[in-house]
Amino acid sequence: MAEISFTNVSKTYAGGKAAALKDFNLKITDGEFMVLVGPSGCGKTTALRMIAGLEDISSGELKIDDTVANDLSPRDRDIAMVFQSYALYPHLSVADNIAFGLKVRGAKPDVIADKVRETAALLELTEFLDRKPSRLSGGQRQRVAMGRALVRSPNAFLMDEPLSNLDARLRGQMRAEISRLQRMTAVTTVYVTHDQVEAMTMGHRVAVMNKGTLQQLDTPRALYDQPLNMFVAGFIGSPPINFLEGRLVTHDNGPAVAIGEFLLPLAQQGERAARRIDQRVAIGIRPEHLKLSDNAGMPGTISARASFVEDLGADLLVHMDDKGTAASGAVVMDDERDMMKSAPRLKALVDGSHRVRRDDRVTF
Ligand code: ATP
Repeated sequence: MAEISFTNVSKTYAGGKAAALKDFNLKITDGEFMVLVGPSGCGKTTALRMIAGLEDISSGELKIDDTVANDLSPRDRDIAMVFQSYALYPHLSVADNIAFGLKVRGAKPDVIADKVRETAALLELTEFLDRKPSRLSGGQRQRVAMGRALVRSPNAFLMDEPLSNLDARLRGQMRAEISRLQRMTAVTTVYVTHDQVEAMTMGHRVAVMNKGTLQQLDTPRALYDQPLNMFVAGFIGSPPINFLEGRLVTHDNGPAVAIGEFLLPLAQQGERAARRIDQRVAIGIRPEHLKLSDNAGMPGTISARASFVEDLGADLLVHMDDKGTAASGAVVMDDERDMMKSAPRLKALVDGSHRVRRDDRVTF
């Protein structure tokens, strides 16, 4: 097992316009399940391939345990990678696919047989050992791909969107399965995904990336509760957070944020807010934190017309007419102002037992 650390690592591809990774710093501890998450092109796969030794590092230092690994050949790293396409050998049985890595390393036949049996049992593949991959379901193929990685007892597992080819039900099952295996084996695991549900449910810690930089590294809960910037706030959470434009004001001798008529006292961030009275700010409110209210017009409520209601069964997703507009002022960064402009209309996620119809005036 291994600790993996990036120190000021950058990568520019030949012919690439912008750096794929910029001054990237990340320390993955021994036995940790680390998720790298971010939109397409943010540099996740580049970081993962660097750990595997499949990508040159333009500058900075990658360490695996105490060894500088920048120039270490892939085979000297003893790291196993599971790809999005399972890369199974179609002409080999499940057992031979799992055994492949051990055979090429010259392991003894009885050791191989034991290891294959153990791994198949762990992955519940025992009854399929004689089958060819073409006669397996997507989930079973995925487990064989995992088995090929697991059987070697590597220093670390690297997984690049391993569930993206599966349907929603299987993805859910495999999420739990991979988490269980990682807990049992305690092998350092780096898992790349653009799916925030996978990030939230699987990672001990999650590194949120954008444009080649690390935006925030934290536990899933902390990313949800205390995002450091609008990018993280907008990326983590489903349906996505609402962004509104507001202004800091004084109310009842304390700072509050005003969004039109709506006043929200700021108990927690009082001191910071008190220094910025009158500034315009971006406000993030998660759709699930808006609660329906009968008190239209009362302080602490916000009213809007429902333009569209999606019945999700357990919940209703109510889309409102109002839209957060671009904020200006010191608190909102340039990038974030763009996010405000593209912010969709306000949404609320309310209990499915409520009756809300299109065109209703709703108070939250
Ligand atoms: P995705 O989720 O789409 O796989 P990613 O976050 O894994 O994206 P990377 O594959 O690491 O992103 O790519 C980061 C950036 O580097 C992108 O802008 C991409 O276009 C660029 N890039 C990746 N590979 C190469 C390459 N071989 N040559 C040139 N540019 C590349």
